[in-house]
Amino acid sequence: MWKLGRIYLGLLLGVLLVALLSSPPDSAAEHLQRRIAIALCVALLLAIIATAAFSRTLSDRIITLKNFASRLASGDFRPLPAERANDELASLSEALNRAAAQLDSTFQSLSGDRHRSSAILRSMVEGVAVMDANEQIIFSNGAFSDILNLSGEAIEGRPVIEILRNSELLTMIRRALNGEEGLSTDIVTGIVQQRSFAVTAAPVRALDGVPTERGSSSTPALASDKPSGAIVVLHDITELRRLERVRQDFVANVSHEFKTPLTAIQGFAETLLAGAVDDPQNSRRFLEIIREHSTRLARLTDDLLKLARIEAGKLELQFFPVGITELVENCSETTLLKASRKQIALEIEVPPGLPAMLGDSALLHEVLQNLLDNAVQYTSPGGHICITASVRDHEAVLCVSDTGIGIPLADQQRIFERFYRVDAARSREAGGTGLGLSIARHIVEAHGGRIWVDSEVGAGSRFSFSIPLAA
Ligand code: ADP
Repeated sequence: MWKLGRIYLGLLLGVLLVALLSSPPDSAAEHLQRRIAIALCVALLLAIIATAAFSRTLSDRIITLKNFASRLASGDFRPLPAERANDELASLSEALNRAAAQLDSTFQSLSGDRHRSSAILRSMVEGVAVMDANEQIIFSNGAFSDILNLSGEAIEGRPVIEILRNSELLTMIRRALNGEEGLSTDIVTGIVQQRSFAVTAAPVRALDGVPTERGSSSTPALASDKPSGAIVVLHDITELRRLERVRQDFVANVSHEFKTPLTAIQGFAETLLAGAVDDPQNSRRFLEIIREHSTRLARLTDDLLKLARIEAGKLELQFFPVGITELVENCSETTLLKASRKQIALEIEVPPGLPAMLGDSALLHEVLQNLLDNAVQYTSPGGHICITASVRDHEAVLCVSDTGIGIPLADQQRIFERFYRVDAARSREAGGTGLGLSIARHIVEAHGGRIWVDSEVGAGSRFSFSIPLAA
């Protein structure tokens, strides 16, 4: 409006000025009046132009400030260029710039915190999920999806009941949503492949701007005593439980293994003391049984000590290049005698010129000898044993194949565990401790290799182990 008025006034003055300039003065007095009028018109015109220029700069600056405020609202915190003027608007622009810098740094630090927390949660091996008061998942990490076999599925935004089918877990989450603290339990999932989890759940009482009876809407306050959500953490303890079971089994096995020979020794010693010592024929037999059982006890103790040393990492390996042919020849010499006694044929297929392995010769000898002893042990007379060696991918692979009784598929992974035997009675009868393969596995793994078995019941077994090459 004011802008339009200024234009009209300017035009009017312009027309007046042209009229004054175009008509000649009649007298000297009129000449003077006209000059005064012209001067007034010019002054007024200049004043109008100056006001227009000033108000234009002012409105431009206000628009810039308005745009800056909109930018701030949309998260663009770049500052305004410094003002040259020294007025109220310049102070306002400076204050806004300071506020923007402050907001920018708060925003950066918040988003840094958020990225850090989300990176920590993402990299956690524990499954973490957060649900809101309506039992809907609002956050979950990758481990949580993996644990529940839901990788690739969208979890967030879905109701808990749709995701978790474990009633114990659901009950726990509901209790946490009702405000119960310090909830923890162990759950087992799966039927065929069971997995154990240590679960903890806790209520989440988030701060928000919801006004309460005590607080005002401007100051954040605890929304209410009822939690606004719950957090649940699942920790996979399957391996821990398995190790606990292995340890318990180990203690039971050791006791059992010691008990049998000790009972026999005690029994025969008592029989001898009770008078059998005077019966020369029986006393000799009883003494032989006592010796046999004590030898077995000594072997068992030796194996257990060796295993304990290996597992405690106290096995000192003397790494040197070990010739494959020498190792095989060395072991086969001992085996040849045992095999021929059972009419078992022993064949060696080791190509000449194989590179040396890097390892402890005595320990590698023990591994191969154990595999050969087992092959003789579990192969019937008339059977066949073959030792082969080859090189691939910077490692040597040695195999002992037999045409023996074979090992059922279900037992194949377990025979490397301590005391695990497919047929315990048969193994004991043959003087086995059930520790040989477990020791062999530890030795091979300490060399950076691996040991495995391929077997078929009734057809035979092939035990293989790999050891890195010396160069
Ligand atoms: P053991 O002293 O009983 O031989 P090992 O640890 O050497 O103990 O072997 C564990 C079990 O693996 C044995 O009891 C046996 O059931 C099975 N096993 C090992 N080698 C063979 C084989 N060559 N053929 C068939 N079964 C075998």
